[in-house]
Amino acid sequence: MNTLLPTSTVGSLPKPSWLAEPEQLWSPWSIEGDALAEGKQDALRIAAHEQTRRGIDIVSDGEQTRQHFVTTFIEHLNGVDFENRETVRIRNRYDASVPTVVGAVSLDRPVFADDAKFLRQQTDRPIKWALPGPMTMIDTLSDRHYKSREKLAWEFATILNQEAKALEAAGVDIIQFDEPAFNVFFDEVKDWGVAALERAAEGLRAETAVHICYGYGIKANNDWKATLGSEWRQYEESFPLLQQSTIDIISLEAHNSHVPMDLIELIRGKKVMVGAIDVANEAIETPEEVADTLRKALQFVDADKLIPSTNCGMAPFARDVALEKLSALSAGARIVREELVTVTA
Ligand SMILES: [Zn+2]
Repeated sequence: MNTLLPTSTVGSLPKPSWLAEPEQLWSPWSIEGDALAEGKQDALRIAAHEQTRRGIDIVSDGEQTRQHFVTTFIEHLNGVDFENRETVRIRNRYDASVPTVVGAVSLDRPVFADDAKFLRQQTDRPIKWALPGPMTMIDTLSDRHYKSREKLAWEFATILNQEAKALEAAGVDIIQFDEPAFNVFFDEVKDWGVAALERAAEGLRAETAVHICYGYGIKANNDWKATLGSEWRQYEESFPLLQQSTIDIISLEAHNSHVPMDLIELIRGKKVMVGAIDVANEAIETPEEVADTLRKALQFVDADKLIPSTNCGMAPFARDVALEKLSALSAGARIVREELVTVTA
């Protein structure tokens, strides 16, 4: 990719209201059967078109074909019982009714490869596909079979690797693993979290990314953020390990967060997806605000490694809000791109 500061998003975008109820997570589908299959493709087509039209250089699926970034993948696994639900505390933050692991986990066929092939046909731009990371999957389940988070993480990593290879074969350029759990379980990140992530990414020719954030702009996350104090230094735990890892790109939250920008120095040498769009606030950033965040980030990341992005997914937003934010992101990136070209010319 030759574009300087190629823009991207973390992943999810609002779905059309005829496909799923808007402005909520885990929103049920509004249609079913063949109509649903066709509707998902239409939504992917729109998502690719809107991203392109609004200047997003690395096109994502917007999670248009899945209900939720973790559970939809888990639903396809053998060994998980969705009838047998238990209430667990997710990321030590909120309770949710989750499925139970009752036997050996495995995957018969790729979950998203056909959707990825379809997205590949919609655009000539590089495409990115997100999968949940092993630790975040574990944190969204109850386990009665392995009785070891580490063991189960390793099983998931092997399955994710299988899925990632299928996505790569479908033409995906960047495979992203979402690991918000890396901002919570620091001992496990050190003990096996990064190793499991590397296992998931093993042997891929596609670029690999890990997204670590403070979550969607939902109440439980916003309440948690309010307890974190004036400086959010959670990345300090995972970044030195990721700097040494095989993962190519690190995606982090920046704009309107209390993350000190200089923490990016800890991943020097990696590509960095810097969140310049707030997903917990409906106000549309101005291009100048976006540019300001990117300029600050450029003190700690080389220009050829900076990917302007969003803080997290935008699924809970009204559709026009999310789309306007895409436009703001690319307009802000354009400002800084022009400054960089002027300096080097
Ligand atoms: Zn996120």
